[in-house]
Amino acid sequence: MRGFGSSVREWHPGPVSTDTPAPGTSGVPLRTAVAALPPYVPGARTEPGSRTFKLSSNENPYPPLPSVLDAIREAAGDTHRYPDMYATELTETVAASLTDHATSHGIPLTVTPDQVVVGTGSVAVLAHVLQTVCEPADEVVVPWRSFEAYPIAVAVSGATFVPVPLASSGSAGRLDLPALAAAVSDRTRVVAVCTPNNPTGPAVHRDELDAFLAAVPSDVLVLLDEAYVEFVRDPEVPDGLAVYAAHPNVVVLRTFSKAYGLAGLRVGYAVARPDLAAGVRSVSTPFGVSDLAQRAAIASLHAQDELLERVEALVVERARMLGELRDQGWELPDAQGNFVWFGLGEETLRRGAEAREAGVLVRPFAGEGIRVTVGERDANDAFLRVAASWRR
Ligand SMILES: *Cc1c(COP(=O)(O)O)cnc(C)c1O
Repeated sequence: MRGFGSSVREWHPGPVSTDTPAPGTSGVPLRTAVAALPPYVPGARTEPGSRTFKLSSNENPYPPLPSVLDAIREAAGDTHRYPDMYATELTETVAASLTDHATSHGIPLTVTPDQVVVGTGSVAVLAHVLQTVCEPADEVVVPWRSFEAYPIAVAVSGATFVPVPLASSGSAGRLDLPALAAAVSDRTRVVAVCTPNNPTGPAVHRDELDAFLAAVPSDVLVLLDEAYVEFVRDPEVPDGLAVYAAHPNVVVLRTFSKAYGLAGLRVGYAVARPDLAAGVRSVSTPFGVSDLAQRAAIASLHAQDELLERVEALVVERARMLGELRDQGWELPDAQGNFVWFGLGEETLRRGAEAREAGVLVRPFAGEGIRVTVGERDANDAFLRVAASWRR
């Protein structure tokens, strides 16, 4: 056996750097992929006490339900303890809730707790899924423009980001599923399907998703990001759980941040076959999801009907906004999430600044367009006045 000592003698250190790093810097090189990361641009925030409406982050305008606040208050008293690392009760409650949904929709699926992995927002779960399956130099195919956490999560995983443009003309803001399938190579490990697509709004249809899944090799993971699933009303959109039931390589991502209004507590989950779910669990940050978040999410699932009524009210507001905007003369993509997209191109930053001046924060994507969250009625009315001023 080769001794440890001999390998030490064979080891020749490179030249030792004696340079003094510039003030405020470490002198330690960062990973190339990290140094090149695009920044995550969060939606603008309101100043405390300001009368500005925040329609920039796809948040739910409703405050937590009293029953959810009670659960959070109760959990606060246990803050000196670590949370349940495996979020056992939350995982079981999510699994039971998804199984109920499947049963009542005629989907042949029992979601067992070993198919559910929670994380600090589905953004974290997404990163953990990529870290579970991607080797360096593997490719992750992503529709683009889409959710801005994707390029960051892919780069951090060490994989290569392969963006595929959205469909052009006639189908504004829609994913181009044939192009996504065509971009799959020998190196592709994951394809992301964001439905409804953030920030443009349309959701993928059953026929196009079926054709896509038939074309993608069965050992390529298809990530169905359904962050806005509760807001979808287009009858041609398939149920993500039915898609998951029929395709072992599909992973569904969901979140409590949008429809359930828990954005501030950071909790989301993936539904995956048990082997994959176990892998994702093993790369997850230990004790990541706080006890507050776990108990608030459980309370939210118990208050599901009440919360989904709020979602319905937002869907009604969305239809009202789209109707009024189209009356103003706007041509807008279909909106299946809690947001509306304006492809304003070069006008984007100027219009975003004007909206802010008028007391409404929106989310501009420089050179591309503006995403406006469907919020409370007053906020939506304020935005409708801004949009009308842009037509003049
Ligand atoms: C908001 C969002 C998420 C999840 O956000 P979390 O708060 O991290 O759960 C995931 N995907 C898309 C497309 C989103 O818009």
